[in-house]
Amino acid sequence: MKLASFRFARHDSWGIVDGDAIVDLGAVIGDRGPDLRAAIGLADWGLFDQARQAAPRRRIDEIEWLPVIPRPDKILCVGLNYESHRRETGRPESAHPTIFLRVAASQTGHGAPILRPHVSDKLDYEGELAVIIGKPGRYISQADALSHVAGYACYNDATLRDWQQHNSQFTPGKNFDGTGAFGPWMVTADEIADLDALRIATRVNGETVQEAGLDQMIFPVARLIEYCSSFTTLEVGDVIATGTPGGVGFKRDPQLFLKAGDRVEVEITGVGLLVNTIADEPAPPH
Ligand code: MG
Repeated sequence: MKLASFRFARHDSWGIVDGDAIVDLGAVIGDRGPDLRAAIGLADWGLFDQARQAAPRRRIDEIEWLPVIPRPDKILCVGLNYESHRRETGRPESAHPTIFLRVAASQTGHGAPILRPHVSDKLDYEGELAVIIGKPGRYISQADALSHVAGYACYNDATLRDWQQHNSQFTPGKNFDGTGAFGPWMVTADEIADLDALRIATRVNGETVQEAGLDQMIFPVARLIEYCSSFTTLEVGDVIATGTPGGVGFKRDPQLFLKAGDRVEVEITGVGLLVNTIADEPAPPH
């Protein structure tokens, strides 16, 4: 099942993607699941099936995609999780994953612009697999980890490299408004038989700039869940962006930074295709 968050007729809702339409479950069971995060928390797929019959269908060309989980409790991001990326950055090997946080306002949906702010021209892409938590937990073992996953989605952890490198902490460069693209939907975990068999690719204006198998992660998804849940309680709807492979723009020769009009795609086999166009942030009001 593909689940998505969307806006239709100025109203935010969620539902099941079905061909060229979305079955608007928010319109019929919004009292129990006002958004996708709450709906996942119901853990009641039977209710979804039942509601499906009565729900209106919204044509995909009439909706605006929202980030899959528009307002997660937290977005945990993993740095340096592919050897090809660790090497190109020159960072040392580590026994533990590098973790930083994104805020909800930094996200954007499929088909919406990724905003290049007026304070930087060093906007870079990072194609990633996002994991959406479906069952809360603390101190989750690797053996149990995947049973806490609701689904998977494409993520573009777009980064302002100069702001990332002002100091040793990543937060500003990873949190500009409208930079973290997340979508178009999440595929429920039951549809992914073998995560390691999937491949991720990032394209800029049609040219492939990143390409890897998910089996090349240094710390696999189960280990990331174990590690993160050791310091924080994972809540329903939490997102883990699992890191990007080698090939990022600022380590290329010549460097490749994104500018207005560029089209960036993140595709993961069996999961989806996330497409965004870069736009300059509107000028500030003063
Ligand atoms: Mg990243």
